[in-house]
Amino acid sequence: MILAVTMNPSVDISYPLADFKLDDVNRVEHVRKTAGGKGLNVARVIRQMGEGVLATGVLGGTIGDYIIQELTKSNIENNFLKINQESRNCIAILHDGKQTEILESGPTVSAENGAAFLKKFQVLLPDVSLVTISGSLPKGLESGFYRKMVEIGREKRIPVIVDASGESLRQVLLHHVKPFAIKPNIAELSQLLGVEVEQSESSLKQLVAKELFDGIEWVVVSLGGDGAFVKHGSDFYRVTIPAIDVVNPVGSGDATVAGLAVALKQNQSVPDVLKTAMTTGMLNTMEAGTGYIDRSKFSRFFELVEVRKIDY
Ligand code: ATP
Repeated sequence: MILAVTMNPSVDISYPLADFKLDDVNRVEHVRKTAGGKGLNVARVIRQMGEGVLATGVLGGTIGDYIIQELTKSNIENNFLKINQESRNCIAILHDGKQTEILESGPTVSAENGAAFLKKFQVLLPDVSLVTISGSLPKGLESGFYRKMVEIGREKRIPVIVDASGESLRQVLLHHVKPFAIKPNIAELSQLLGVEVEQSESSLKQLVAKELFDGIEWVVVSLGGDGAFVKHGSDFYRVTIPAIDVVNPVGSGDATVAGLAVALKQNQSVPDVLKTAMTTGMLNTMEAGTGYIDRSKFSRFFELVEVRKIDY
């Protein structure tokens, strides 16, 4: 099965308001609460794709209990390290076609708890054929934490996909033990390289060919509605997708990681891996929920994705 890691999960609460009043009372009728955090979106989409998945990470308190309840309701196996602190709520106020977010930073994880999680991670690996690591680290854990997980994965010969940003991703890339795959978007790529990334094919090719990405089997730069630019080994690919009606694009990156993980687990061909990853991303944008896809639409959209090898 695939192990999906979320180190700082949340309960995502959405408050749709016809008329959002600042400095006044706002009453909400249709509250929606879901188990959130990027890795949990990944886990949900892997499950919807029919693959076995185990969700892990660190959580605690009544919010942690609610997350476990929700995962169990969705038939997602889970095995988290429970800590003595409350997990976080993340609130999205949906108003006038806009989204105002209030994000708690979540618990501070002690070094002891960090070490206990790494132990759990090691114990879980024998039953796992691929790992996804998504999202930010909780406070308290040092930025090299994901790097350690990649190293443990390598020791056990299990491919690890990292979808993170900032210093924790940089630490992963600078280490001599490389992840199997990464999926930065344009903003993350810009931040990583310290340059304003231009979306032209030649400029993307030049950037993903940089030494920083050497040794990573798959570098999938997702480009939102423009598809993706990909480096696989020493080959480069431009992946294009059809124009679709977008309902909610949030979590598309996570759905893309889920598709990538499923396709790699199934040893699909290179073009199919990319088509699967793009299709799950697209299907997520067509649903109101974050990290949800309608599997029945998969084949139709899969056929519409085009993969072109760049041979210059
Ligand atoms: P998020 O942070 O919201 O999870 P992201 O920035 O990591 O997303 P994107 O590059 O926006 O990731 O999207 C990932 C994939 O989802 C795209 O490569 C594409 O397949 C699909 N996608 C995203 N936005 C659109 C869109 N507007 N139209 C069609 N497909 C989209």
